[in-house]
Amino acid sequence: CYETRIYSSLRQPVPLPPADQPLSVAEYCLSIFSSISTSGATPFAVNATTGQTLSYSQFVSQVRSLAYCLKKRYSLSQNDVAFVLSPTSLHIPVLYFALMSLGIIVSPANPLGSNSEISHQVQLSKPVIAFATSQTSHKIPTLKHETILLDSPEFLSFLTLSNIDGNVMKRIKVNQSDSAAILYSSGTTGRVKGVMMSHRNLIAMMAAIHHHNTIEADGSDNPPRSVTFFTVPLFHVFGFFMLLGAVLSADTVVLTERFEFAEMLRAIEKYKVLGCGGAPLGREVAQLFNEKFPNVLLLQGYGLTETGGGATNVFGPEEAARYGTVGRLAENMEAKIVDPETGQSLPPGQRGELWLRGPTVMKGYLGDEKATAETLDSEGWLKTGDICYFDTEGFLYILDRLKELIKYKAYQVPPAELEHLLHSHPQIADAAVVPYPDEEAGQIPIAYVVRNPGSSLTAAQTMDFIAKQVAPYKKIRRVAFIDSIPKNPAGKILRRELVNYTGGLSRL
Ligand code: AMP
Repeated sequence: CYETRIYSSLRQPVPLPPADQPLSVAEYCLSIFSSISTSGATPFAVNATTGQTLSYSQFVSQVRSLAYCLKKRYSLSQNDVAFVLSPTSLHIPVLYFALMSLGIIVSPANPLGSNSEISHQVQLSKPVIAFATSQTSHKIPTLKHETILLDSPEFLSFLTLSNIDGNVMKRIKVNQSDSAAILYSSGTTGRVKGVMMSHRNLIAMMAAIHHHNTIEADGSDNPPRSVTFFTVPLFHVFGFFMLLGAVLSADTVVLTERFEFAEMLRAIEKYKVLGCGGAPLGREVAQLFNEKFPNVLLLQGYGLTETGGGATNVFGPEEAARYGTVGRLAENMEAKIVDPETGQSLPPGQRGELWLRGPTVMKGYLGDEKATAETLDSEGWLKTGDICYFDTEGFLYILDRLKELIKYKAYQVPPAELEHLLHSHPQIADAAVVPYPDEEAGQIPIAYVVRNPGSSLTAAQTMDFIAKQVAPYKKIRRVAFIDSIPKNPAGKILRRELVNYTGGLSRL
């Protein structure tokens, strides 16, 4: 029956710890890490920009020391929010783990965000404390506690304490249902929202990685370990969960303060990188890569901030050889393909909106019941806003986007935010922003602008007006002037018409 057609993961179900056991995702990862035989000197993280390295023994002792200092020094309560605004550095993984082990909610934001973007995020998540650098701290409004600078001698002293009273930490009991992180996403519409990920959500992600590692290790005490280059920053969901997964697998992560192609190539050579990840990968790029590197397995997954990252995955050479697919449903995941017009659930081969359900799906949007209800239904289905289909073997194909979102490289650009700014320009009568296909970035935002009568506003002036107010990745990179914005009778922008006008979403 189409009404109830549900696709279940073809992967083996993964057992999760009992839901009522007090357990933070940080402790879950660290306890699995400690069961793997590694030498203390095993590198945990390398900063490819500075060449600095952090070994696993340094990492674990810094996490313990920092957690203890924060607990003793600041009267932080469990479920308080800590805002993090910093470029990637070796301190960030230590900070995330220390905060989450205390039951403090980590809320990392893009350090390139403009002042108004950051203050919107701060209003959403209501942090009591912030961690920043001397370069980013000016963007953070006054909070209950001071903003701690990660590049200050004081912070360094928090990392190296040796006389830690273990009992203080043992008394901390973190509920798995509590939030571990608030990540930012615009979801399917409108302005940015705070995605609440519980410890349970993240533990479910980690349990799947652990399960996969155990299969790969095949009984060996010394499982294969990867060196992963992070193309995405650590505030992005992909960087966030990859980081947790790396600790649980005793892998090495190669981090960079700012993505640069040549630096990535040098890092791949120097650190013998085996995996990397980021934005959607086009079929031609994958094919060209495989022709050049036939011995390298290129694996593409798919996920959303709202699913804590990977909702699908690809295992082994046979699955990897299927171009154009993003793999099969991840462990413990269910899906439906829903016809947006009729609400019917569709069989393989038919396209519709992908709905997902499973233990990694977010708790909801912080303080936004309306947006939560629009995205998560009463049965726990998350509406992804992506148009997809499954083939008869369970492989998922992403075809298009129903939602407004534009993806510039791996970054989210919400059109509504840019339209709001365009409307504030005195010479602009109306405007709409949609994606435009781009070879390098995947998509760029193009603005369709209706000028006021008599205005001679130029494309360059329009782009400049926006560029001054937003983070660099959100800049409008193309402008077209038109007579009117196509809208339905209710005044809703007919985005599809504009997208088709620009040649369609040939590259997602
Ligand atoms: P984010 O929350 O920033 O991770 O963005 C999630 C969105 O990125 C998804 O809903 C998709 O529209 C898009 N996306 C993620 N992975 C892929 C992929 N492998 N192929 C195509 N689109 C993707």
